[in-house]
Amino acid sequence: MRKSLKTKMLFQAVLPLLFLAVVVFLVSYYCFRGVVLEQTKTDMRHQCQLLEQTLERIYPGEYSFQVVDETHYRLYKGDYDITSSEEVLDNLKEAYGDELTIFCRDVSVLTTMVDENGERFLLGSVSPIVASQVLDQEEEKFYYGVKLQGEKYFAYYQPILREDGVCFGMFAVFRPADEVQKSINRAMLPIVIVYLVATVFIGFLSISYSQKIVSRIRLLQNFIGKLSKGNFDGVLPANYFRYEDELAELGRNGLAMQKSLQLLVEGDALTQLNNRRYGDARLKKVMHKAAATGSDFCVAIGDVDFFKNVNDTYGHDAGDEVLKGVAQVLKKHMAGKGFVARWGGEEFLFVFEMTELDAAANALQEMLDEIRTMEIESGESVVMVTMSYGVTQAWKDATADELLKKADERLYIAKTTGRNQVVSMD
Ligand code: GH3
Ligand code: MG
Ligand code: MG
Repeated sequence: MRKSLKTKMLFQAVLPLLFLAVVVFLVSYYCFRGVVLEQTKTDMRHQCQLLEQTLERIYPGEYSFQVVDETHYRLYKGDYDITSSEEVLDNLKEAYGDELTIFCRDVSVLTTMVDENGERFLLGSVSPIVASQVLDQEEEKFYYGVKLQGEKYFAYYQPILREDGVCFGMFAVFRPADEVQKSINRAMLPIVIVYLVATVFIGFLSISYSQKIVSRIRLLQNFIGKLSKGNFDGVLPANYFRYEDELAELGRNGLAMQKSLQLLVEGDALTQLNNRRYGDARLKKVMHKAAATGSDFCVAIGDVDFFKNVNDTYGHDAGDEVLKGVAQVLKKHMAGKGFVARWGGEEFLFVFEMTELDAAANALQEMLDEIRTMEIESGESVVMVTMSYGVTQAWKDATADELLKKADERLYIAKTTGRNQVVSMD
């Protein structure tokens, strides 16, 4: 299927926006993710420091432990057995919402974590990677996807260094990955909303703008389409010229082209009247209209008397001047009554719309009265002419040829019975 200009422009307006939306979304997502992770890290580090300071304040002294069995250790700080004093950790958990754990080397000995039954559970040993990175290298570490009891956590480990420089264990803070993701989403939300609204707004503007252009192009398309079929009735409405741009210029050129083409095809260069082709087509239109409405109309043919003599006596140029002068008078008299066309050399066709025979004959008589008194100047000479007319009223089912023939017959009568007259009867 042929893709219309409208679809193409729609794509052109919306695609870059969508592309930009995706890019902006991804860039902002990763920026916000970075910021939120950094914030999370700072939070967790802060909690570890608080835990360390609190323990230091309440239980002064060095860390040490005693093995109870393979999985149970007793944790000492100075002289205090703090293995069962989870209160410090619980308070921090209450304040910050994150899980805290203390490790003796790589084994968890104290934790805030509880299972689904609310029972506190120790995590056992950390992974060898954590052990090597935190315990052996004695560096704080942040991990993005630590799995504990089937759930994903963001984890922060900080080595516990004793005064003698030995790495005793680790403090760890865990925050559910879900929660961190939610923080990222919350941070993203205003951006997404603002961008969505902006995208819809800009999209709407671009679409409505391109549709305006397309609708004007369609008007021009119709206009040129008619013109290309030789139909000069096409118009470009005022709203087409609402904007002063290339399309308006194109429209003006189109109208000018229509005018000159119409003049070439339907006009007569000498008299500025319409030519025979136009007269013929227009007569048929009038016939159709009259047949539809049942109105009367009349057809007449007029011819300049002894025109050959004018040419012979005053010259061909003078003859042309006479034709021009006569044409102006004919046009003036036909205004509002119908139309006149140059039918041949010095012969003219008249069609009187919605007019009966008497009225048409009277109008032609008035025309003739003016023409016979007219003094047409050409160079030194003043030329005067008369005309003869044959006129008929249209009858039911008459064809154009029959009407023209009847008018011609009456013109012949006028010519053969003295000229300079209007004949409306056989
Ligand atoms: P009638 O009264 O019987 O009509 O006589 P007429 O001389 O007018 O008729 P005829 O048909 O013998 O001559 C018409 C002349 O009109 C012949 C032709 O050279 C001349 N003619 C036709 N077209 C033009 C034109 O455009 N300019 C000029 N100057 N003469 C034209
Ligand atoms: Mg003549
Ligand atoms: Mg003639």
